Amino acid sequence: MTLEPTEPELARWAADSRRSRGRRHPEPPAAPRGEHQRDRDRIVHSTAFRRLVYKTQVFVNHEGDLFRTRLTHSLEVAQVARSAARRLHLNEDLVEAIALAHDLGHTPFGHAGQDALHGCMAAFGGFEHNLQSLRVVDELEQRYLGFDGLNLTFEAREGILKHCSRRNAKRLLNGEPTGPAWRFVHDGQPTLEAQLVNLADEVAYCTHDIDDGLRSGLLELEPLLRLPLFARACEGDPRAAAGLAPSGSAFRPAGVDARADRRMLYQALRRLLSTLIDDLIAQTRANLRAADPQDVEAVRRSPGLVAFSAPIRANLDELKSHLFHALYRHPQVVETTAAARSVVTDLFTAYTQRPHEMPADHRGAADLPRAVADYIAGMTDRFASREHQRLTGRQAFAPVGG
Ligand code: MG
Repeated sequence: MTLEPTEPELARWAADSRRSRGRRHPEPPAAPRGEHQRDRDRIVHSTAFRRLVYKTQVFVNHEGDLFRTRLTHSLEVAQVARSAARRLHLNEDLVEAIALAHDLGHTPFGHAGQDALHGCMAAFGGFEHNLQSLRVVDELEQRYLGFDGLNLTFEAREGILKHCSRRNAKRLLNGEPTGPAWRFVHDGQPTLEAQLVNLADEVAYCTHDIDDGLRSGLLELEPLLRLPLFARACEGDPRAAAGLAPSGSAFRPAGVDARADRRMLYQALRRLLSTLIDDLIAQTRANLRAADPQDVEAVRRSPGLVAFSAPIRANLDELKSHLFHALYRHPQVVETTAAARSVVTDLFTAYTQRPHEMPADHRGAADLPRAVADYIAGMTDRFASREHQRLTGRQAFAPVGG
């Protein structure tokens, strides 16, 4: 009997770490850990990963302790992706590594921060958070004596670079002709593990943003109940929809216990999660049966194989569009994002004019705008706010509880 655990059984189209395309800087094997286990471990120990706890997902970090942050979002993506990977016999370690790293390049203050930084960098090559996530694991983490970055496997890096403009892809290919940017120029797909994390991200945020949206009071129940996906999640238990409604509402008949509200919501969200994951698995199995890829390289040449069925895809798009208009563009969210945008823009101006205000390892860079963008992108929400106050003397956000 062997004392070391072996990797769970993998399908022939799964990424097997023993056949990885390897790392940019060759290293001795990680045994008894698999190579993708080692990727995952390196990500968990990175500085950028720890900072995710103080970065905005939708709600700015100081708005409430119960809302998702980038860290808890990443953990939920990993949970969804990992449990689907197990059922599809895909590589769970690779899935987990990609999921935990997929948002490492996000700026403070969520999409508002990213849009602002992209605007500041317009004349200097722009700012894309997926590209930044790759930059974090390839260059910005400094933990090893022999190289910059975490030196992850090709497969992990390929999954982390989820999107990339053609222009940036071509620039990346100049330095690494067969690197993870290759598929954006030659229309290839990444591993099934990377495709799965991509959709697990959607499943996770659509589900948890309903929870955070209702909790914050910014989302209303009635319009949600008109969406087939959410309405179905409340079916089968007539009290579910009723129990979720604010008391006094037509949706809550007399006799429904208000204390049950949260449990009702969680039950509906669990059903929503199961519907999405079950559909994803059934459709992906059907696609795999039809395409019958012989190995990972065949997967890379095939069209995307991890997918929802057409009806669920349509339902999910409808839900996403509702969340976009009702939550992400809610006046109260937009108000805080306007403040966030000015923090990022003011910081960019301050550091480019006065590089000595940054730590020594950022101010000496040959490409100052990029070094400033890297420094700002790495900040947590609260560090960015404090720096902004120190450099401008202004307070961007109203004090909490004030
Ligand atoms: Mg995400």
